Order: sequence, then structure tokens, then C-alpha cells
Amino acid sequence: MDIKRRKFLKIAGISTIAGLAAPSALNTLFKGGEAAASSGGAAHGAPAAGGHGAAASGTPAAIRYGMVIDQRKFLGKAGEELAGQCIAACHTVHNVPNFDNKKDEIKWIWHTPFENAFPTSSQNHLSEGVEGGEFLVLCNHCDNPPCVRVCPTKATFKRPDGIVAMDMHRCIGCRFCMAACPYGARSFNWRDPRPFIDKATLNTKFPTRMRGVVEKCNFCVERLAQGLQPACVEAASKVQGLIFGNLNDPNSMISKVLKKNFTIQRKPELGTLPSVFYII
Ligand code: SF4
Repeated sequence: MDIKRRKFLKIAGISTIAGLAAPSALNTLFKGGEAAASSGGAAHGAPAAGGHGAAASGTPAAIRYGMVIDQRKFLGKAGEELAGQCIAACHTVHNVPNFDNKKDEIKWIWHTPFENAFPTSSQNHLSEGVEGGEFLVLCNHCDNPPCVRVCPTKATFKRPDGIVAMDMHRCIGCRFCMAACPYGARSFNWRDPRPFIDKATLNTKFPTRMRGVVEKCNFCVERLAQGLQPACVEAASKVQGLIFGNLNDPNSMISKVLKKNFTIQRKPELGTLPSVFYII
């Protein structure tokens, strides 16, 4: 690392730590912005006015992408296999490395028990399937994303369609975004990932990453641009285990599913307004 980069990281670190130290800043990190202020009582944790992902001008965004995970489709042995197929589809298409050492693991989507996915929900008297069941988790593409607020280089940013994206070239590896994300949705490349990507399945159309950068789920922006569904959604399409679409379109399948079913989000009390919903 050259001196300039070191100096920049030091300054960025001091400013962010100073910002985080102030209680009001901590409050802003999770609850900040109009979106959080209006979250109480709004359907699916959406802002009460202006629709999902209202722009700063107050004009509702035309598109805000979101996902519903229908946990009922991921029960038992078959459900576990389906979850494995979703993970494999995502990780293959995005050249996610397969490190031999678990502590270096890079994850875009993975499964985890209920108590890890929803640690602040009651663990008492869980229904069959929820207790002992594995839940798919990924970046929630929060409408009020703390990771975006702390990034000193704007390497992570929220697109107008609600997707929280990453520009790997701008990432300086400070990992503030990882500290700010309350869902552990981001992974850091401690090692050069390239030798750990399966050559047989390498996707030459998607960039590989380098040591020292953070990465996470991108809601398959590259596939959406081609009119395709995210890879995990496609993998579970036979049973409609994952439903993806525009939360701001009342006629989209995802909006209809959300209207019909009671859903939960991960740690909604933080005011991050996740765009991923679970039918359990
Ligand atoms: Fe950022 Fe984490 Fe929310 Fe994804 S889940 S947008 S990484 S805070």
C-alpha cells in the first residue's frame, strides 16, 4: 500500500470513528433519514408517504426492486437442496471463490438457522419447519442502508431502482461498510480470490475481484439489464420459492404476493427498511 493510500485510509478512519462516536450519529446510522422516521405503521416497513424508495425530491421512484423468500418452499430435505441450488447458481454466475479455509469465505447468498437470521425475534415455541429450518439470507438492499452512509469513497451506493450496488474499483478495503451492515451481508477478500474460482464454471462475462475489496449480492443487476431474473430466483422458479420484482408497481407479482401474505423482515427495528421479505 503506498503512502498516499495509507494517509487517505487514516483520515477516512478518523473522520468516520469521530462520526460514529456521537450518539446522534449512531442514531442517524440506523434510524436516520425520513424513511426511518416514517417506517412505523407503514406496510412492509415502507415509508408511509412517497412509496418505496422515494427520491430526495419527494417524488416516488418508479422502480424499487425487492425479493420475497417463501420459506414454505425451502422446508425439509428437498427445500435444503433447493436452497443449495440457489446458492450455487448465484455463486457460479458471479465467480464467487470457494476458499478451502472457512474464515476466508465469500458469501453472496447463504443459508442459516432462524435464530441467526432473526436473532431479535422470539425463539419460543417456533413452528415446525421454522425451528431447525435453514433460511436463505443475502444483502437486503435496504432502503435506508447504513453501509452506504459510511463508505468514504462512494464505492457502495444506492441506485435509483433501490439496488445497493458496489463499484469494486473504488473500494479501498476499509471495511466500514462491513461494520455498518447489521446483517453480515458483506464479505472481504482477505486473499486473492482468483485461484479459488472453479475454472470449469468461470463466467467470463462477470468480473473477478482482487484481494482487499469487499463484495456482496448485487440483485443480479447484470442479468436484470438483459431482461433476466436474478440467478437464485431462476433456480427456484419451478416452485416459485423466490419472487423478485418491483415493489412500487401494485400490479407486479411481488406486490400481489406481499398483499396476500404476512411477511417478516430481518431486524426491522433498526429502520434499515430491508427489501427482502420472508413468508414463514
Ligand atoms: Fe447494506 Fe447490509 Fe443493508 Fe445490504 S443488508 S444494503 S450491505 S446494510
